[in-house]
Amino acid sequence: MDMYLTHVCLWTTLLSVVVTWAISHVSNRRKKTTKLTDTTAGQERRYGGPDVIIVGAGVGGSALAYALAKDGRRVHVIERDMSEPVRMMGEFMQPGGRLMLAKLGLQDCLEEIDAQKSTCLSLYKDGKKAVVPFPVEDNNFPYEPTGRTFHNGRFCAAGRRNGKIFDRRKRSDQRSDIQEQFWRRNDGLCTSHCGMRRLLLEPSSAEVMSYQVGYISKNCQLEEPEYLHLVMAKPSFTMMYQLSSTEVRCGVELFPGQIPSIANGDMTNFLRNTMAPQVPPKLRKIFLKGIDEGAQIKVMPTKRMAATLSDKKGAIVLGDAFNMRHPSIASGMMVLLSDILILRCLLQPLDYLGDTNKVSEVIKSFYVIRKPMSATVNTLGTAFSQVLIASTDKAKEAMRQGCYDYLSSGGFGASGLMALLGGMNPRPLSLIFHLFVVTLSATVQLLSPFPSPLGIWHSLRLLGLSMKMLVPHLKAEGVSQMLFPAYAAVYRKTYMTATTI
Ligand SMILES: Cc1cc2nc3c(=O)[nH]c(=O)nc-3n(C[C@H](O)[C@H](O)[C@H](O)COP(=O)(O)OP(=O)(O)OC[C@H]3O[C@@H](n4cnc5c(N)ncnc54)[C@H](O)[C@@H]3O)c2cc1C
Repeated sequence: MDMYLTHVCLWTTLLSVVVTWAISHVSNRRKKTTKLTDTTAGQERRYGGPDVIIVGAGVGGSALAYALAKDGRRVHVIERDMSEPVRMMGEFMQPGGRLMLAKLGLQDCLEEIDAQKSTCLSLYKDGKKAVVPFPVEDNNFPYEPTGRTFHNGRFCAAGRRNGKIFDRRKRSDQRSDIQEQFWRRNDGLCTSHCGMRRLLLEPSSAEVMSYQVGYISKNCQLEEPEYLHLVMAKPSFTMMYQLSSTEVRCGVELFPGQIPSIANGDMTNFLRNTMAPQVPPKLRKIFLKGIDEGAQIKVMPTKRMAATLSDKKGAIVLGDAFNMRHPSIASGMMVLLSDILILRCLLQPLDYLGDTNKVSEVIKSFYVIRKPMSATVNTLGTAFSQVLIASTDKAKEAMRQGCYDYLSSGGFGASGLMALLGGMNPRPLSLIFHLFVVTLSATVQLLSPFPSPLGIWHSLRLLGLSMKMLVPHLKAEGVSQMLFPAYAAVYRKTYMTATTI
């Protein structure tokens, strides 16, 4: 027995010695590897390696490059095409977006590009017109409450000049190069655009909602150049705005399966014969001018996509590759600039961006802090795009009419909704309030003069519609993050005050 116990003791001691040695060996090796990586990263920094790699120098990439470079970061930007983009998107900057630009120190990007001032939304429905200004008084907004329209390409080019975007490569080199740099280094913050989404996120879940068809009428000026003209037409809205001092953007929204061919002239006929008669006479001449002069007609899909974070540590996807909403509220650039402002502020305390754990923590906070602006705009985008679609459905039409009546009635309701649209007051609770009041007033219309069974049925469906506009967003964005008023208050206090402009 004694012999047996002695054997057990001996073997146990031997085993513990071996295990302890193995553990200490493995941990020593890990420490050495980490030290080596740190040294490599440190050396890379010392010898000019970038702190941040940004892929894509569009609206977001250039602004981020500028903001981070100003904070002393070494920024490396990769853009596939440095020529001035010519495209039909991102042509209106909301007042809230202009505030963000100013906060980033980039307000001069809107200068010398022939940008036009916008003060009002001019809404047309069934021969009636309502002019709703961005609220000027009592708006708690620390900036001039006007928007700007401009050629997106000129704005991007100005941003690139500011961001000192230097790296120019052929598109074919891009993927392997970016992949190699990023995956091999794995120690810096990589902020990505477009194509990088496929590398960093789950397959895109972007949903095509509709198509924007547009062209430019040249050598003309609207009678009211400071108004954004929005016609509540059929099948959906038609818009016109002064794009530069001599050009007017004309556009209509169409739906999948209903796009006439541009090549065989069907589109021109459709715009001339179906859409132009719905445009108010005062604007029609300019609407027809571009068509008659053979302006190039473009078609762009409008997409919606919820925001998701990348699992790849230290990497973040921003802009349209990250989160999209319907462009009827023209707010994509505003949300993007707000995101950049938040990210930049969160990163400021970090000396070294190679610490992917810390950077990942920052990215998680960023995801929550952005909610008041992004969730409000995303929900509003869905709701507003829905009410602009013409329908024979009584409930939908009541909602559409309710929205027009609400905006045309002026006063507190209209200015509150315009403050929301303009990104001057990005508060989810305020959005819910306005949606509720519009729904309520539309319900009253449906039940007037006496509540009939059919009227009650349509009212219930209207309520359902209104819930459908709200609930999926509440779920997707997070109920507490969206509805807890403190988040919106902190966002306003931190990012929408005038102090640093
Ligand atoms: C029809 C339409 C109208 C819109 N109107 C408005 C509006 O009026 N106001 C508003 O605020 N928002 C509007 N938006 C949204 C707005 O345009 C976008 O939110 C904004 O442009 C997104 O900026 P971004 O930097 O993410 O992308 P972009 O500005 O598109 O920049 C992406 C950049 O990445 C580059 N790139 C792509 N792939 C690679 C690659 N593989 N390697 C290197 N570089 C690459 C591209 O060349 C480009 O320069 C609209 C959107 C649509 C669809």
